[in-house]
Amino acid sequence: MEEKQTLLCNKCKVEMEDSEVSFAYLNHSFRHKVKRCPKCGQVYLPEELVNGRMSEVETVLEEK
Ligand SMILES: [Zn+2]
Repeated sequence: MEEKQTLLCNKCKVEMEDSEVSFAYLNHSFRHKVKRCPKCGQVYLPEELVNGRMSEVETVLEEK
């Protein structure tokens, strides 16, 4: 198995690059490294981010 995974943009068929983006979720914002298409700017959100980080944020809010 290869360690480095290359992702291609569905639209542009170009290799997506690592990019740090900041998300704003409700009143929280956080930064995360994601794959981003250098052409159209579309970001690829891994499931672990959507299912992990987002629910973490929700959990924090609920506990407050
Ligand atoms: Zn693209």
